[in-house]
Amino acid sequence: MSVFNHPEFDNHEKLVFHHDKSSGLKMIVAIHNTNLGCALGGCRMWNYATEEEAVADVLRLSRGMTYKAAITGLNLGGGKSVIIGDPHKDKTPEMISAVGRFMNSLNGEYVTAEDVGMTGADIKLIARETKYVAGFMPGTDTEGPSPYTAYGVYRGIESAVRFKLGRQNMQGVRVGIQGVGKVGFDLAKLLIEAGAEVCAADIYTNNIERAEKELGVTVVEPDAILQQPVDIVAPCAMGAVISQKMISQLKASIVAGSANNQLAESKDGERLAAADILYVPDYVLNSGGLIKVYYQHFFANESFSEQKRKVVSHIDQMTQQTLPRIFTQAKELEQSTSSIADKLARERFMGNTMEQTDAV
Ligand code: NAD
Repeated sequence: MSVFNHPEFDNHEKLVFHHDKSSGLKMIVAIHNTNLGCALGGCRMWNYATEEEAVADVLRLSRGMTYKAAITGLNLGGGKSVIIGDPHKDKTPEMISAVGRFMNSLNGEYVTAEDVGMTGADIKLIARETKYVAGFMPGTDTEGPSPYTAYGVYRGIESAVRFKLGRQNMQGVRVGIQGVGKVGFDLAKLLIEAGAEVCAADIYTNNIERAEKELGVTVVEPDAILQQPVDIVAPCAMGAVISQKMISQLKASIVAGSANNQLAESKDGERLAAADILYVPDYVLNSGGLIKVYYQHFFANESFSEQKRKVVSHIDQMTQQTLPRIFTQAKELEQSTSSIADKLARERFMGNTMEQTDAV
């Protein structure tokens, strides 16, 4: 397997493979860029079919974190990690503790957090072994990032609905959610509370049954969710789901979800624009989780309520100011929203502008 010539390789600084024999942990950490600070990004556990698939995922995800941190205005770099294995079958406490010990060997160059396949309980276990984990504060703040990611996605959807549909509230807006895990479930709840009509799909029976029972979402087959006749599709599962083929089948006029790397290739941003579909750039829309763990980790001496105030204000700034600016620029310059977001992010981390641009 080639790394330096890998299609997803983008001048990454580090790719570290780790095997812990006694627990069976197989983990890969990718650090994309640390121009702005240490790399902070979640740990994903997924049943990858091949090691190549895991490498491609971690390279893409870590790059996305650099862009996310940069556009969010935080002085952080981009990194991510993946564990190879089925989170529902292969995960053990020994394996998760081994993740924490491995973090120590990276000396803080990479700080991990929660992602797909990992739970708050896992983060708590990792925190027993290392300080290089964000998203868990013993004794004070045990909230994970997901509710904040969902809040940010919801607020970003409100902005997109105003811009694209000219509607001032979510009453009767139809949304199709792919994946009702940690973020998708909370997003569905916020949307339903605001009067939206939500349909959803999940490949994990427990999760879709919970969303149907507790929230009353309309259940759709997983392979049909993105093609539903809705106003918005919200990919909240895995990446690369918006491809050229899928774009030709979309009936929604807005794509806005939490999943990282939703576009199968960068050209899909232009394809969505050409199809008159508003794409809400994923790493801007889903930055609420990063913002949450950033304040939790780096402002640990502040009270929970003060941290929360900063987090919510920062998310509101991203979704009510940065996103509308991206939509407007894309329209005026006749470019895709994804290319405008990339340009803004690159200007910051390539220009190495250390000035923190948050509004708190
Ligand atoms: P999760 O593991 O809790 O939920 C993902 C859900 O998607 C699971 O229920 C899974 O069964 C389902 N799923 C997977 N493939 C599917 C498919 N093909 N069709 C339908 N459902 C499918 O993960 P999460 O934390 O909710 O994250 C969801 C996405 O949002 C991921 O891409 C993640 O990287 C991204 N994200 C999450 C956060 C966060 O704070 N958790 C922050 C930023 C980005």
